Amino acid sequence: MKRIEKAYKIGQMLDKFYPETPVPLDHRDPYTLLVAVMLSAQTTDKKVNEVTPDLFSHADTPEKMSSLSVEFIQKTIKEIGLAPTKAKNLKKMAGQLIEGGGVRPDWKYLESLAGVGHKTASVVMAQSYDIPAFPVDTHIHRLAARWGLSKANNVEVTERDLKRLWPKETWNSRHLQIIFFGREYCPARSHNLNTCPICSWAATKKRIKQEMGS
Ligand code: SF4
Repeated sequence: MKRIEKAYKIGQMLDKFYPETPVPLDHRDPYTLLVAVMLSAQTTDKKVNEVTPDLFSHADTPEKMSSLSVEFIQKTIKEIGLAPTKAKNLKKMAGQLIEGGGVRPDWKYLESLAGVGHKTASVVMAQSYDIPAFPVDTHIHRLAARWGLSKANNVEVTERDLKRLWPKETWNSRHLQIIFFGREYCPARSHNLNTCPICSWAATKKRIKQEMGS
C-alpha cells in the first residue's frame, strides 16, 4: 500500500476512534497552556495537571510568575522531572513575555522564549490559536516510523513527512489522536501486531523487529 493511502486509512480510523480531541493539559488561556506544555517535557500530562493548580494559584500571568523566586517556583513544581531547569526557564520566560507584550501567535517570538522549542510553540499555535501545526514528540515520531509513514531519524523530518500526508485542516486534531492512540494501545515493551487495530495491517515489521532488538 502506498504511504498516502496508508495515511488516509489511518486518518479515517483515528477519526472514528477519537472524534473529539480535548486538550490534555489543563489551562485557562494561551499563557497557562504555554507554561503547562513547557512543564510537560520528560513527564506525563497527568503529572503536570497535578502541579499546575497550585502553580497557577500563585502565578497565572507572566507578571505574577516574574515576581516569584526561582526557588519558590521549583518547590511548587518539584514533583515533575527537570524541575530546577524548568523553574529557571519559567522565571526567565515571564520576563521575556512582559517585555514582548504577552503570548501571541508568532512562531519566531514563541521559539525565542526560554525553554520553548518548536514542539512547544506548535502546541500553543494549534491549541490556543487554531493555527495548523503538527507537534511531533517522540511518541508520534515512533508511531509514524512503525506505521511506515516516515523513515526519518529525527522529529523535524517526521513532522515534514506527516504534514505532507494529511491535509492541513486535520493536523491539529491528528497529532492529538495519535497521542491518544499511543496511550491506549502502545505498551512500553510488547507489540502484539495481531491485536493492534493499526499495526496489524500498517506496521513495517522490519522496523518493529529492529526496535524490539534494540
Ligand atoms: S502494535 Fe504496538 S506499537 Fe504498533 S500501534 Fe499497536 S501497540 Fe502501538
